[in-house]
Amino acid sequence: MKPLGPIPAGYTAIGGELAIGGKPASHWVEAAGRTPLFVYSKDLITHRLADLRAAMPDRIKINYAIKANSFAPVLDHVSTLADGLDIASGGELEMVRAMGFDLTRVSFAGPGKRDSELEAAIAAGVTLNLESETEADRALGIAARLGKTPRMAIRVNPDFELKGSGMKMGGGPKPFGIDAERVPALIARIIAAGCEFRGLHIFTGSQALSAEAVIDMQAKVLDCADRLAGEAGVKLPKLNMGGGFGIPYFSGDEPLDIAAVGAALHDRFAHLPETLADAELFLELGRYLVGEAGVYLTRIVDRKDSYGETYLITDGGLHHQLAASGNFGTVVRRNYPVAIASRFAAEPEETANVVGCLCTPLDRLADKAHLPRAEVGDLVAVFCAGAYGASASPSAFLGQGPAAEMLV
Ligand SMILES: *Cc1c(COP(=O)(O)O)cnc(C)c1O
Repeated sequence: MKPLGPIPAGYTAIGGELAIGGKPASHWVEAAGRTPLFVYSKDLITHRLADLRAAMPDRIKINYAIKANSFAPVLDHVSTLADGLDIASGGELEMVRAMGFDLTRVSFAGPGKRDSELEAAIAAGVTLNLESETEADRALGIAARLGKTPRMAIRVNPDFELKGSGMKMGGGPKPFGIDAERVPALIARIIAAGCEFRGLHIFTGSQALSAEAVIDMQAKVLDCADRLAGEAGVKLPKLNMGGGFGIPYFSGDEPLDIAAVGAALHDRFAHLPETLADAELFLELGRYLVGEAGVYLTRIVDRKDSYGETYLITDGGLHHQLAASGNFGTVVRRNYPVAIASRFAAEPEETANVVGCLCTPLDRLADKAHLPRAEVGDLVAVFCAGAYGASASPSAFLGQGPAAEMLV
């Protein structure tokens, strides 16, 4: 037997079934007319933002990194709760534009921005988080041609990283950001070229569960921003401090202590240096805001035994849940929180492997899991499906096509 990850708070049973948004899972499957289906809870997203704001100093603003989940109704809902949105492609710019969001509250990071993407962003008043000196030059050239004043921040590749982070995005050679030592010169250059300077962006990693690591990282981010602004002789109008707040996925994971993170920020903000005194201070979060608010529902289409092991074969799989299958940035595969949604209140009584319908051994949703006995027709729930599920899985693989999605 292998342990399952912890089921996030806020999920209960109704009539023995998993409830989402106050209704049983089967209700949503019927409403969608099919499985597999992602169900995202509006209430859980709203509460997550409210709890986060309560824990953070008032001065902190919260951006949503939309790559975590850009399903239009989710994006629409989060955008009413967040202070700004972070995008990482021209495609995401179009999603945000289609929603009618104020584009001056959008910033655009990401290496390899094409000229067409820079042009669309500059024309819309989106802040560019510059990833290289050459990107700065291309953007300044495009802005001059458009007759627009570009809004520019600099993404720093700092000389530290987020400890214990799932994906490291700072410290040492990286395709992201501009090496810290070259940032002061670039600040001076883009200001001299006439841009509207929007400060610095320092993102150092993802999926941290240790408050100590996040507090340490934030202190270093503030020190680094102060040092670079001081060397450039400017005050920062804005500092995007990154994010990296993680959620528990695996057995033994504990939730991030946001009260401790908030208290440490409170202390730091009481003594901010002159360079940051007037800065708008942002966190940019993706998975922390929406990850636990989503459940992936898939139906068991076959139940079989092979050399003493039981396989529950579902109509879903890694084409919608690459991360849960263990193939998205993990070294050792561990089980996500998974349950039999249609028997959520039942006691576990057997050990079974839950797999997807793809013809590849990579397509596993739960290995040797202790579960209630499930039959063909039962629904399986994979939790923590609100972030990097639908948006980060190869839905065309094996001709399977996307899952249904709904916000309830
Ligand atoms: C992906 C990304 C985020 C969001 O990361 P999460 O782990 O989902 O919070 C934030 N900022 C940048 C620059 C990113 O690339």
